[in-house]
Amino acid sequence: MADRIELLPEHVANQIAAGEVVQRPASVVKELLENAIDAGAGRVRLITKDGGKTLIQVVDDGFGMSPADAGMCIQRHATSKIRKAEDLFHIRTKGFRGEALASIAAIAHLEVLTRRDTDSLGIRLKVAGGKKEAPEEAVCPRGTSVSVKNLFFNIPARRNFLKSPKVEYRHVLEEFQRVALAHPDIAFSLFHNDSELFQLPASNLRKRIVHLFGTRMNNRLVPLEEETQVLQLGGFICKPEFAKKSRGGQFFFVNSRFIKSPYLHHAVMNAYEGLLKPDTVPGYFIFMQVPEDSIDINIHPTKTEIKFEDEQSLYAILRSAIKHSLGQFNIRPVLDFEHDQNLETPYEYKDRGAVMPEVTVDRNFNPFSDTGSSGPTKTYKKALPGGWEALYEGLEAPAGEVGEQSEWVVESDVRTASLFEPDSLKGVNDVFSLQVDRKFILTRVKSGLLLIDQQRAHQRVLYEKFLENLSLSEPASQTLLFPLRCEFSPGEMQVVEEMFESLQAMGFRFGGRKKSSLEIIALPVLIPESEVAGLLDGLIARWQYQDGEMVYSEGDRMARLLARSVATRPGTPLDALSRQTLINDLFACRETQWSPFNKKIHTTLSVEELEKKLD
Ligand code: ADP
Ligand code: MG
Repeated sequence: MADRIELLPEHVANQIAAGEVVQRPASVVKELLENAIDAGAGRVRLITKDGGKTLIQVVDDGFGMSPADAGMCIQRHATSKIRKAEDLFHIRTKGFRGEALASIAAIAHLEVLTRRDTDSLGIRLKVAGGKKEAPEEAVCPRGTSVSVKNLFFNIPARRNFLKSPKVEYRHVLEEFQRVALAHPDIAFSLFHNDSELFQLPASNLRKRIVHLFGTRMNNRLVPLEEETQVLQLGGFICKPEFAKKSRGGQFFFVNSRFIKSPYLHHAVMNAYEGLLKPDTVPGYFIFMQVPEDSIDINIHPTKTEIKFEDEQSLYAILRSAIKHSLGQFNIRPVLDFEHDQNLETPYEYKDRGAVMPEVTVDRNFNPFSDTGSSGPTKTYKKALPGGWEALYEGLEAPAGEVGEQSEWVVESDVRTASLFEPDSLKGVNDVFSLQVDRKFILTRVKSGLLLIDQQRAHQRVLYEKFLENLSLSEPASQTLLFPLRCEFSPGEMQVVEEMFESLQAMGFRFGGRKKSSLEIIALPVLIPESEVAGLLDGLIARWQYQDGEMVYSEGDRMARLLARSVATRPGTPLDALSRQTLINDLFACRETQWSPFNKKIHTTLSVEELEKKLD
């Protein structure tokens, strides 16, 4: 047989490499921004169109490239940043693998325009799908501009895999935030579809955070500081009461490089233990400086995962430093000596009117319960007892339930007509039902006992009602007496944008929509006003991280999410009327056996089974 192994042509190899480096427009944004920083830029502009699908351009005022370097830069393994393998353990630059530009050039239209300070003319270079045009001289300012158009134009499968421009823009924004946070001393701006979204002056970290996430961040931040032999720790953590259900405000930087680390995140969560409401995550901006040779950055092409020499010590130091900061902030106010009111108004906030400060107190928050505060509608919810009484919950059965238990003894005859005994549906107290463990509802059916999962049942009921809203041109909504203004970070606002139509289809009505706030003027009838803020927070969290789930339509997805958010949780006591209503509503549903998340709602314990058990 003939020899079968051949070297792949360069452009195929580059396309394969591109698969690792470039997943979506945001990956290109990351690589280009990092190149600008490596070039010593003081000002970096990012310009994108259609979430980066049509255009991504990064313009810097860094040291530029010589004409020869410009010709080289799009070759694979062409880098000015390392020379030998040992250099891998002393990396001070963002890039070093020399494959970003080569990969991008293989799958998009790439144009590089660059000039060094010492050259009078710059050079323009164009590459499309790996094919180079002859470079030409060009007049341009010092620095480099790289533009990337029509990402994946030559790989339709990858292009089709991209999400809508809104979703892609959200990822771009995330990447922009990460790089901008890591380098507060560099000025950044962001333009998307021709409008300027951020203009971040060079400043310190606190101001950079405020410019990116809004002035309200300023009094939420607690400084973090610690210096040990293996680690220098800095940055800010957020006060626990501002923790949110949605992820997205959590940042780790190691040697000025954004990284993901579930392990270190765990250390943070551990330090906050006992201070957070259930299911919430605090925001943090944690900067770690470690010796370059104690980490390995080169374990993943996108360099967002790194290997530490001694991860366990980092965990311990991080945890105790955070505990210390949180403790300190409890006993004395945080003073910011650098605070300068004139510099505090970020560009995007300058035209904004004043908003009345609001105090939101979660009256239902009960640190002893694991149900959280968001959830059930009025019918199914009884406010949890607050304070010390909660400790004694469950030790003594409430009077009502004792009464019903005696009913349980009395009722013994089995009729056969319908699922429920017909005449018992007349009045609430006629149908026997019992709450078990604040989780299940037990009731009688013709063949034995029916055990219903209260949360799943309620999810099903709500889901079908929300679906019904979808089919109406004017879904039932309740207009609020006072419109509700909700503030969001730009990233969260982007998710709200994505959900906007589905929310409207559900019966939400909105007033003004600003860059980082939203006015709600009406709600779907099924959603109590007191729960809206927490509800939106949870929706934002879930909407973002559900990409893979199989769903029929956006509306359907929203109906599921709302049902999940609003449905009563285990641990909620249900009185007789609520139980009765829930049972009735459930069996009026089109589907009664399965929850919208494909979980079994109820099971029957037949008389025979019960008899067998007692054999
Ligand atoms: P890496 O950053 O890993 O070296 P890249 O493919 O991103 O690889 O870039 C290749 C080379 O092109 C860099 O090493 C650098 O010398 C040059 N380069 C890329 N972008 C810029 C820029 N904005 N300014 C100056 N030089 C650049
Ligand atoms: Mg690079």
